[in-house]
Amino acid sequence: MIKLTNINKTYYTEATSLHALKGIDLEIQNGEYVSIMGASGSGKSTLLNILGILDNYDTGDYYLNGTLIKNLSERQAAKYRNEMIGFVFQSFNLINFKNALENVALPLYYRKISRKRRNIIAMEYLDKMGLKDWAYHLPSEMSGGQKQRVAIARAMISEPKVILADEPTGALDSKTTEEVMNILTELNKTGITTIIVTHEKSVADTTKKIIRIKDGLIESINENNH
Ligand code: ADP
Ligand code: MG
Repeated sequence: MIKLTNINKTYYTEATSLHALKGIDLEIQNGEYVSIMGASGSGKSTLLNILGILDNYDTGDYYLNGTLIKNLSERQAAKYRNEMIGFVFQSFNLINFKNALENVALPLYYRKISRKRRNIIAMEYLDKMGLKDWAYHLPSEMSGGQKQRVAIARAMISEPKVILADEPTGALDSKTTEEVMNILTELNKTGITTIIVTHEKSVADTTKKIIRIKDGLIESINENNH
């Protein structure tokens, strides 16, 4: 599903440059359940953003589902992103002035699906997350765990092949963390390749493979048998 060969990425600012990824080789098969751990600044988000076609890399090759993801136009990148990837972020990234239903329905708007049909489908996804009764509430009226479930519903509505989650439990307490991880585990069981960046050992231990990154390089990859 994912194959990275010698991926390098440098950030350039006015005065300095920062070599954030220094030659990443990584293969992730269809349906795998993987976590990425590493200290702050080690390059986890940079790697996830490249995987999610949110950012470019400098050298190397990235194949996603057999397609070389390189030098794509904005339009091509958006197309592959929308077809393939669902994102979940630490800070939820919901639109604050839209209610839960509208937030979940948004990806379908870009697919030119009618409002009526969008809302019917969005309600189904909210229902799957146990949030039917919260459809008309704003994010500001919801708990962190509820907001993350709305974000997961929004990620799932496009039926992605890959879920990329950047510290999805970073803003949640331990009970809510467990709830969100249970949801991600169930989604993975339906066959979706699931990749979770986390600081928390308990979260990483939920996944089947733990990749450790240090200073822009992969330090270790361990199967998690327990
Ligand atoms: P992590 O997610 O593991 O904390 P990041 O991938 O966010 O690490 O960052 C890796 C390194 O790249 C850090 O040193 C960070 O400061 C730097 N970096 C990240 N994004 C940018 C950017 N947009 N411009 C310049 N430097 C950046
Ligand atoms: Mg990060």
